Amino acid sequence: MDKISIRNLEVFGHHGVYPEENVLGQKFLVDAELYMDTRAAGKSDRLADSVSYGDVCSMIRDEMTRQNDKLLERACERLARAILLAWPVFHELEITVKKPWAPVLMHLDYAAVTIRRGWHRVYVGAGSNMGDRQAYLDMAKKALMEDEEIRDFQSARIIETEPYGYVDQDKFLNTVYTFDTLYTPEELLTLLQSIENQAGRTREIHWGPRTLDLDLLLYDHLVTEDPRLVLPHPEVHKRLFVLESLCELYPYGLHPVTNERFCDIKKRLEKE
Ligand code: ADP
Ligand code: MG
Repeated sequence: MDKISIRNLEVFGHHGVYPEENVLGQKFLVDAELYMDTRAAGKSDRLADSVSYGDVCSMIRDEMTRQNDKLLERACERLARAILLAWPVFHELEITVKKPWAPVLMHLDYAAVTIRRGWHRVYVGAGSNMGDRQAYLDMAKKALMEDEEIRDFQSARIIETEPYGYVDQDKFLNTVYTFDTLYTPEELLTLLQSIENQAGRTREIHWGPRTLDLDLLLYDHLVTEDPRLVLPHPEVHKRLFVLESLCELYPYGLHPVTNERFCDIKKRLEKE
């Protein structure tokens, strides 16, 4: 991926753990590596096809002086978020904040923190088979769409499906959502669970009736082994109704473990 770099942008700020640092202030140096596709700008020579690095520098200065953080980690986090939200063309970035006058009573070139942040494409399975099923799905969609750290939200059609696993229960309404997010997988799972809780979700029977179920199906091409968050979702390639909605949004997507296209997995299951 192409990138725009800003190196050693000097800003006078008041960040630090010691109260003296918050009063006296000191010099900070900021590096930003901003990943985007520069092809269009390279061909057109028009600033409108790229991002003005002057504007990015101004934003870095404003963010670095807007509030005093104790930690460089926090300053980096705020810079990354502000830049990613302000310029959608940056898919990913790396921010370094250096502190050359760090008060450690020894000489050093600088102390620094570097973070890499970006947008991640995710797929979320949504289902409801209790109460006003449509209203619960609408509520989930609204909560996700209105979140600042979520963009480019799309939903598959809502389909009615027979219960799966524990079959003595009402029919489900199911769909799949896809969007880009700045959340980590764990943060996103916590958000999904808090939306389930807002819908009055209780957990009594495994695979039993529920007002709202939000499962994280895919997070980029990430593969995890932690039972608290298995990615891809362990049932994604086994449930025809999930594949039906997933294929509407991402037919040629590859399952990151089996390496099979979702449309092919779906065709195979339909024949079984
Ligand atoms: P289910 O959806 O299987 O009917 P729950 O929604 O109650 O059941 O989820 C049970 C647990 O599964 C959650 O506590 C969560 O930690 C875990 N889990 C593991 N991987 C995932 C995933 N990819 N998406 C959602 N939950 C997951
Ligand atoms: Mg679930």
